[in-house]
Amino acid sequence: MTTLVFIGNDFKYEMENVAKLFFPLAHFHFVYDEAPPESDYILFKREQGEDSVSLSVQVELPAWQGKSGKEFSFTEMPDDNACEAELARQLFTLLHEMTGLRPQWGILTGVRPVKLVQKRLAAGLDDEEVRTEMKEKNFVTDHKLDLALKIAHVQENVLKDLAPRDYSLYLSIPYCPSRCSYCSFVSHAVTGKKAQELLPKYLMALIKELRVTAELAERQGLRLRSIYLGGGTPTVLSASQLRQLTGAVKQYFPHVGEIEYTIEAGRPDTITPEKLEVIKDSGATRISINPQTFSDEVLQGVGRKHTAQDVIDCYHMAREMGYDDINMDLIAGLPGDTYEGFCKSLDTAAELAPENITVHSLTVKRSSALYSQLSEMEDYRPVQRMMDYTAEKLMAAGYDPYYLYRQKNTVGNLENVGYARPGHWGEYNIYIMEEVQTILACGAGAVSKVVLPGRLERV
Ligand code: SF4
Repeated sequence: MTTLVFIGNDFKYEMENVAKLFFPLAHFHFVYDEAPPESDYILFKREQGEDSVSLSVQVELPAWQGKSGKEFSFTEMPDDNACEAELARQLFTLLHEMTGLRPQWGILTGVRPVKLVQKRLAAGLDDEEVRTEMKEKNFVTDHKLDLALKIAHVQENVLKDLAPRDYSLYLSIPYCPSRCSYCSFVSHAVTGKKAQELLPKYLMALIKELRVTAELAERQGLRLRSIYLGGGTPTVLSASQLRQLTGAVKQYFPHVGEIEYTIEAGRPDTITPEKLEVIKDSGATRISINPQTFSDEVLQGVGRKHTAQDVIDCYHMAREMGYDDINMDLIAGLPGDTYEGFCKSLDTAAELAPENITVHSLTVKRSSALYSQLSEMEDYRPVQRMMDYTAEKLMAAGYDPYYLYRQKNTVGNLENVGYARPGHWGEYNIYIMEEVQTILACGAGAVSKVVLPGRLERV
């Protein structure tokens, strides 16, 4: 286990995050103001003079046969943020030289890159100035800046008519037909007897919560802008349960039919013509049919009990029934997949031509079964190439990137990006990922996000 040693500072959070850009699954041990161990450590030192501050980083990592160091002195007295950012840049440079890895978002770890771009544009910088600043200060590559700037401009149009009392509604069905090995969502396989017994009770509780939420929103004078029924897999519900739930949504939220309304029909092993009919009648405007990959071997390996052909059949069935706004999710970096395999899956999705294609970089959280199977030193460079291929292929096919977010422990610190044909942006995705609108969330594991002046409160 590598030790992070802090002398004269406590920048643990940021330094651990930067180290994790290179070793995403590593465990670190932390010590303060003590001598480092004999080896396998990274040391961060801040020395305060009377009118100057000097910083240094020393890295000694036997796994990379590496020992190296950097020093930096400020000519003017810096504040803590400036010291922290400089140490992060030094660490990034050292680990880049040592490992050959080049995380493309540079030292941006917890922040949302598009938000950062938007903030700079709003402060009056033009695209070129944003680019220069983020390259120099944050080490973001041109490739990623192209993406973030493009998305920031697409979102300007969607966000320009947001009103302060607008909100969106999220509903969660935390059940799935089986559990995927990479899953870290609140979701249970419906196969067990207990889950089968609980599902109808869960549905009743959810409908009750919906009624209360509608009353609350009305009392507060809020205006509903979009609805998202996700989970889990909402289509694990039977056709009649789905009718019951969507009927309640229609009853309590009278604007259904006039606003964006997405229902995740994520897994083809849960989709039937009857359920698609129910969704069509519900006022939903978008559905999601998620292949994740078009390789049967990879699907099987991650515990999904359907084939690629099942997804294609469902997609055609939905098209024949008149669905004209379909999203497909893919994941880059699934275990057992290769760069070539991923490109083939993306090409297949692009040939099917859904209105939206969302590409996620694999996220391995501790709560997923996959976590224990991966080594601390996985090489994630192929995933970076997969994301580059995605951007190139989909933009050439007429899709625009319109939202982007990153999660902790995403392989290679990469991103998830939603692409859409112009005019088919999933507005809910922008609202929730940019944290610009209150989301009232109903159901197990669902977190409401309330936008208040200058802050966001999670409930
Ligand atoms: S379908 Fe989605 S929510 Fe369900 S187990 Fe798989 S990843 Fe998790």
